[in-house]
Amino acid sequence: MNQKLKDTIKDIVQSGTATPFYFYDTELLRATLEAAVKAYQKYGFVVHYALKANSHHEVLKMTRHYLQGADCVSGNEVQRAVDAGFDPGGIVFAGVGKSDAEIDLALRNDIFCFNCESEQELEVIQERALIQCKKARIALRINPGVDAQTHHYITTGLEENKFGINMWELESITEKLKHLPNLQLTGLHFHIGSQITRLDPFKSLCLRVNEISDWFVSKHIPIQHINVGGGLGINYHHPDQEAIPDFEAYFQLFHRFLQLRPGQQLHFELGRAIVGQCGSLVSKVLYIKKGLKTNFAILDAGMTELIRPALYQSYHSIENISKNDQQLLPYDVVGPICESSDCFGKAVFLPATSRGDIVVIRSTGAYGEVMASHYNLRDTAPSIFAKD
Ligand SMILES: *Cc1c(COP(=O)(O)O)cnc(C)c1O
Repeated sequence: MNQKLKDTIKDIVQSGTATPFYFYDTELLRATLEAAVKAYQKYGFVVHYALKANSHHEVLKMTRHYLQGADCVSGNEVQRAVDAGFDPGGIVFAGVGKSDAEIDLALRNDIFCFNCESEQELEVIQERALIQCKKARIALRINPGVDAQTHHYITTGLEENKFGINMWELESITEKLKHLPNLQLTGLHFHIGSQITRLDPFKSLCLRVNEISDWFVSKHIPIQHINVGGGLGINYHHPDQEAIPDFEAYFQLFHRFLQLRPGQQLHFELGRAIVGQCGSLVSKVLYIKKGLKTNFAILDAGMTELIRPALYQSYHSIENISKNDQQLLPYDVVGPICESSDCFGKAVFLPATSRGDIVVIRSTGAYGEVMASHYNLRDTAPSIFAKD
């Protein structure tokens, strides 16, 4: 972490803010959004911000100035996006289990499109749309059978996953759509997973999408937009060296390999790549405890503030910003929660660490605060935005 941010965080702690808290680097968020816009605008793509990565009001307020749309996975997210000022006409709504109330809310708001994940869901949206005398725009979320080569809990594009409609169902679903007058098929949707750090799964996706669009052409079913979802990963190991993901390479790949038909628009849904690097979880060391092989550094932050390491064995870079020693020692950095999985990192090399030191866990802007829980009756950690 650069010295300026360290100083800002130390000032916040010294001025009496209790740890743990989420710290957001607004300047980096803005720079990331600018880089993303610069990279996709030249191709005329549309990017929806995936609210589930971070739905904080401040994040949304800034994001909506740069990205045209929002990607929501619950009725409350649709409402939050509308409240934050996103144009409802740019909202897409995905999720395998949309309730009737959530569908009604989205219909009332005339969202851009429902990304539909099963045959029965189509029937329910038809029923709800009929009641409101509306025509619901829908995209079929198709399972492309592309392996995202990421952690199995965040792989979503394989037939064994619960998401999406499988290829072998397409024939009967498109037939069925002819008898659902309140639905208008406008798009195809794909999302193969998250934290994808190599470009080849995205290339495989493009090639698969081309074949699938050929199928729709052969059936004379017009498709206005193709939505390839999100999943672009960030560098958790080197958050300073690669603070902004390589949006250029990512969007260029789709431009190169995905064949759009005349008039067709290409949409994306990015979450982590936009907000991941701008957040850090700031905590203090409560205790140092001697273990068999390493010492434990016990923090006042735990899996209740950041569950990713416990949930997906994910790596986060951890820094002690109170000390500058050159000599480093291994610590198991753990939280206070009564679970053995409440561990942020094993054998993490830190300067000789003591009670009261400030420890920051990096790259927590996405899937950090939004996954917080009250387990052990813990308080809600506040979020603090650095002024830029
Ligand atoms: C989670 C999700 C996204 C965003 O994924 P990131 O990896 O954060 O970019 C996009 N689309 C859908 C349907 C999702 O479920």
